[in-house]
Amino acid sequence: MAFLKHFAKPGVKRKVLDLQSQEYERKRIRKFQSSWQHSFSWLVYDTEANTMHCKICRSLKNDSGGDSPLIAGTSNFKIDVVRLHAACKQHQRNSELIAAKSTPISQSVAADCLGKLKRAEYTRLVSKFRSAHAIAKHHLSFNLFKTFCKLDTAKGLGVGTSHTTDKSAAQFVSAIANVERRRVIQKIESCKFLSLTMDVIFWGVCHFMCFFT
Ligand SMILES: [Zn+2]
Repeated sequence: MAFLKHFAKPGVKRKVLDLQSQEYERKRIRKFQSSWQHSFSWLVYDTEANTMHCKICRSLKNDSGGDSPLIAGTSNFKIDVVRLHAACKQHQRNSELIAAKSTPISQSVAADCLGKLKRAEYTRLVSKFRSAHAIAKHHLSFNLFKTFCKLDTAKGLGVGTSHTTDKSAAQFVSAIANVERRRVIQKIESCKFLSLTMDVIFWGVCHFMCFFT
């Protein structure tokens, strides 16, 4: 085993390598790598101060505080420093804030929720208008409107609990009648000839047929 004396022991060799590595790191002059900005678009390099910082967190530092070196700016040009900042909660919260501020109100989450609410309300109103229209068309009692609404709910249509009374049914029918009245008036005003035929009369209800030309 005499030949082994020419080789350093494994433990000693590792210590030498560690010392060499520490010496290399101590003398190494790190520089900002512009390629980092491809992955981290918020990273800014200040050529005059020779520092890098996060433009998102810096723009919000008055509101959010924080002690990340990338807010004040740092010349510790290590990718790990950048990655650490990208992963921190403060930066992620600030990124969401900036994204929310730059998103048009019409595309925001709040606007989307409001739109869904409006669509749901619109769907409920359509069901109620149809029920009220059917009641009026078949000369049924407005008292049946509540039953119609309960039936729609049982079908899963979700018409809600508001505006389900007989008075509401009368209001829906009145609104339908007003729209139809305006439509008929427009037709009468624009037509050259008009013929009106009374079809049936019973219980005080008249059916008319109008012909416009
Ligand atoms: Zn940041």
